Amino acid sequence: MKLAERISCVSASLTLAMDAKTKDLAAKGVDVCNFTVGEPDFETPPHIREAAKQALDAGRTRYGPSAGEPKLRDAIAGKLRRDNGLGYKRENIVVCNGGKQALFNCLQIIAGPGDEVIIPAPYWLSYPEMVKLAGATPVIINTTPLSRFKLSPEQLEAAITPRTRAIMLNSPSNPTGMVYSREELEELARVIVKHDLLVISDEIYEKLVYTGSHTSIASLGGAIFERTVVCNGFSKAYAMTGWRIGYLAGPKTLIDAVTSLQSHSTSNVCTFAQYGAIAALEGDQSFLDRMRDAFAKRLELMHALVNGIPKLSCHRSEGAFYLFVDISKTGMDSMQFSQKLLDDHHVSAAPGIAFGDDTHVRFSYATSEAAIIKGMERVKKFVQ
Ligand code: PLP
Repeated sequence: MKLAERISCVSASLTLAMDAKTKDLAAKGVDVCNFTVGEPDFETPPHIREAAKQALDAGRTRYGPSAGEPKLRDAIAGKLRRDNGLGYKRENIVVCNGGKQALFNCLQIIAGPGDEVIIPAPYWLSYPEMVKLAGATPVIINTTPLSRFKLSPEQLEAAITPRTRAIMLNSPSNPTGMVYSREELEELARVIVKHDLLVISDEIYEKLVYTGSHTSIASLGGAIFERTVVCNGFSKAYAMTGWRIGYLAGPKTLIDAVTSLQSHSTSNVCTFAQYGAIAALEGDQSFLDRMRDAFAKRLELMHALVNGIPKLSCHRSEGAFYLFVDISKTGMDSMQFSQKLLDDHHVSAAPGIAFGDDTHVRFSYATSEAAIIKGMERVKKFVQ
C-alpha cells in the first residue's frame, strides 16, 4: 500500500519494541526485571477514581467543549497560579489527550516546512518525530555528562538560524533526570527572547523533583512568559497514564488554534475522565509527597548499586524517575547492551540511542526496591 510521504520519515519507537519483547518474555513465564517503564507503579488515588465514577453516573458521557471542561480549565489555571506563579486565565488553557497530544498539537500549530525546532539531546524520543510530522526540521544539540546534560546559552545561540522557530525544553528531563535551575533558565531565556523564539516547556515531571526545586521558565515573566507554551499533564504526577489527560497553557492565539485543530481531530478529551482530573487538582495532595518520597528512596538505592558496578557510572538524577547510565566503558553500543542484557540476563532497559545518545542506557526506578536489587545484581553479572 502506498503511504503518505509524511509517515515515511518517522521512526518506530525503539522503547516500545523493547517493551514488547519484555512483555513477550514475561508472558512465557520468564522472570524479567523491567526497567524500561515510563509510568509510576502506583494506582491513581481513590478520590480521583471516585470523582470520575460519579461524573459517569451523573451522565457526563457526552461530547464536551474542544478546549476542555470549563471547570477543569479553571482548576488548571488555579494550579498554575498556585504552584508555578503563572498568571493564565481559562482562555489560555486547552486540555488535550495527554501531554503527548498537547506537544504534538502545539508543534502542528507553530512549525511547518522550512522551520527549525531546536531539541537538546538526550531528548524524549517523541520530540524529533513530532517535529518531523509537523513538516519542520529538528535541530539536535548534543549535551554531555560534563554539563550534567544541560544546554548552555552559548550552545543555544550557536544553533539558531533565521529559520529557527522554537526550542523544546524538558525539565525535569526524560531520560537524564536533570533539572534546570532558575539561574540556568534565566540565561537560556535571554537568548530565546533576543532571537524572538518560542519555547515549548515540557513540565510533565514537575512533581517528581528530589534535589532543588522546579521552576517554570514562563515564571521568569515579561518577554519570556509571552514566548512560552507550558505543557503539563496528569500522567506522571497523579499516576494517571491511562486516563490520557494533559494540557497546554500559553498565548490565547495559540491556544485557540490548538482548540480548532483538536475540534477536527479528537473533538474533546473523555468527558468523565476530566472530572477525575478536577478532583486531582482540587482534592487532597498528600499522594504527591508519598509517591515522590518512595521514588526518592529508590533513586538512592539504584544510584548506589549502579555506581558500584565496574564500568558503569551515572549522575544522581534530580527529578523524574530515570537514571541515565554511562555504558561506554563496556565496549558495547546501547542497543547491543540492552538487547544482550534482556536476552541473556532478563533485564530490560531502554537503549540511549532512542534518546539520541548511544553511550548510555536508561533505567527507570518506577519499580519496587526488591526488583531494583535483583535487577542490579543481574546487571553486575552481565557487565562482569
Ligand atoms: N513528555 C515527556 C518528557 C514524557 O516522558 C512523556 C511520557 O512519557 C510525556 C511528555 C507524555 O505523557 P502523557 O502523554 O502520558 O501525558
